[in-house]
Parts: sequence; structure tokens; C-alpha cells
Amino acid sequence: MRIPTPTRLMPEDARPSSHERENIKNFAPDALRERLGREGLPKYRADQIVGWLYARGVEDWDEMTDLAAPLRVRLAELFDTRALDLGEVQHSVDGTIKGTLRTRDGAVLEAVLIPEEGRMTLCVSTQVGCPLACSFCATGAMGFTRNLSTAEILDQVCRMREALPEGRSITNIVFMGMGEPLLNLPNVVSAVKTLQHPKAFGMAPRRVTVSTSGIVPRIAELVEQVPVNLAVSLHAATDEVRDILVPINKKFPLDELLGALKALPRLSRRHPVFFEYTLMEGVNDSEEDARQLVKRLEGIPSKVNLIPMNPHDDAPYQPPSAEVASRFMGILVKAGLVCTLRRSRGSDIDAACGQLALRERRASS
Ligand code: SF4
Repeated sequence: MRIPTPTRLMPEDARPSSHERENIKNFAPDALRERLGREGLPKYRADQIVGWLYARGVEDWDEMTDLAAPLRVRLAELFDTRALDLGEVQHSVDGTIKGTLRTRDGAVLEAVLIPEEGRMTLCVSTQVGCPLACSFCATGAMGFTRNLSTAEILDQVCRMREALPEGRSITNIVFMGMGEPLLNLPNVVSAVKTLQHPKAFGMAPRRVTVSTSGIVPRIAELVEQVPVNLAVSLHAATDEVRDILVPINKKFPLDELLGALKALPRLSRRHPVFFEYTLMEGVNDSEEDARQLVKRLEGIPSKVNLIPMNPHDDAPYQPPSAEVASRFMGILVKAGLVCTLRRSRGSDIDAACGQLALRERRASS
């Protein structure tokens, strides 16, 4: 075996590889101040670094020209700035843009840009796969691999900015992609802090929505730590049906979930809970289901988003007819609920949650 001489190894090979360096995006701005302090570096530089990384989208240390050169060298030794690579980008005829993203350890995840009038929403993932196995969900069919780091959550925003149409910017973030956000709560909270920090992305609280399928004990924990909109993936108004669609319901049944929501502080008509309800033909779309839903939501300031099922190979469900869907909505509206009936977005590009990543994973296995 030939052993290279030390001179051939230096200086390049002496530098830590990106795998050994911490990713700087794992630190929310306040945590970054502390981290710099522990290295004996000036804490007050944290805001500048955050501004370069997120507000300006600069990830090359050499380009952060208002940082002194020796500091830039030290930062490059300590920290990596990228966590994800952008792979395939699919464009739907309705304007939805879906990106596959690859982590440093080869895991595949996805993020979706949803353009609407006056806003551009990015839907981000929080886990690779999901352990909750909802029976209508493509991600649920993938099983669970691991939680995403804070850097991997934030880098979805950084990478998907590269896929934005000319002249558009991301205005809203929803944590509704692959995974259950509240099972990765510390990293989600840390990512939200960076999204809302004025020197980073500067997003107003009402522009960030975190969704849960009902991990009851963590709901209050989330809203105590960060000011966000809360969305709940409800999908059924009875335990009997929800146990099948959203199996975590067996652990945290509807009474417990809705009771926890009623107890939340600061809910009002202006700050409602957003309920997601996927309409599935013959499963949860009857008039009786609608009436049950109205009863269940009594006393909770609510906004209900009805979404006709986006059919895919991994679930046996179909959307109801337009007539059934609008009758369902009519009952909710008549009862005074604020309600929208959303089109399925990106149905021509595997836009059901987890479909693109699932296809990638199958293709590569
Ligand atoms: S719907 Fe959400 S919580 Fe349920 S399996 Fe899919 S990703 Fe997980």
C-alpha cells in the first residue's frame, strides 16, 4: 500500500469535509450568536451571516464581503452552508412546481410551490417518510426513515427559490409536506424562528402554518414556542372513520384532539384553527358527515379547507363528484363555518403528498 507523504495531504486534505462540518442553518439566529461566542468569534456577526444566507441567498463564504477575510476562513472551516441539492423539478399545467431534493446522506424529499393570486406558498417536508401511515397518503406508504434537521427544512426554502418563476418570491410557508411536523418539534421550531427573524426571511407569523394530524400533547408546546397558524388534518368527523384514515386517532381520539384545541389561548375568528378535510367518495363525504363535522367544530374558531382526494396508486380512495363536494360545503357554510373547497393542485405532476419522492425511491431501488 502506498502511503502519501504529508506534503501531498496538505493543506487541502487537512480541511474538514462538509460531512464533518456543522451546517450553519441548523442554528436559529439567537442560537448562532451563542455558537459563535463559544468559538471566540464576534457574536454580533450572527445577524450579518443570517442576512447573507437567507435574505440575500448567498452561501459561499467568500462572497460575504462585509465579513473580514480571516473570519470568513474560520467560518468556512467550521460550517457548511448547504444541506440539500435540488433534483428533478416538475411544472404542473396549473402552475404548481414540485421539486425533489436530496440530502447529504442520499435521502429524497420533496417541496411544492403553489402559486395563487398575490401569494406563493411553499409546502415543506419535516421528515423523510412518515411513521403515521395515514391510509390515503403516499408518504404514509413509504414508511419512516428519519427526521429532517433544521438545515434540511430551511434549505427547502433556499433551493426552491431557485425554481421560482421570474419575478416571484415565496410569501407563505406551510409545514404540510412529507412527515408529521410535531414529531420533529425542536427542528420545526428552530426553522420557524429563522423564517420569522427580521434579518433572515422576515416572514410574519400569519404567513407560516404548521400542520399536525393530531399529536395532542405537542400542540400547546408548539404554539407556546412560536407564533404560527395551526392547521389540523382532520379528514373525518367520527372516530370510526378517522381511526382508518388517520390511525394516530386511536391514540388521540377526536374528543381529546378537539378539546386540546378549544383550550388553546388566543384563538379567534381572525386567528382560527385551519382544518384540512380531504373528501373521499363514499368514505367521509355524506351529508351526515358534514353535519357531524359542524357539531364537532362547535366552539372552535375554525376555517375548513375541503380538498377533493387526489387519487394515486397507493390508496384506494377517489374524489367525490363536484355536486357531492359542493353539497358538503353548503352544509358547512349554512351552519356558519368559514369554508373553502380547494382544487387539487398539481394533479398532473404527482402532487399528492409524497408521491414524487415515492416514485424516485422506487426508481432507485
Ligand atoms: S398525511 Fe401527513 S401525517 Fe399522515 S402519513 Fe401522510 S405525511 Fe404522515
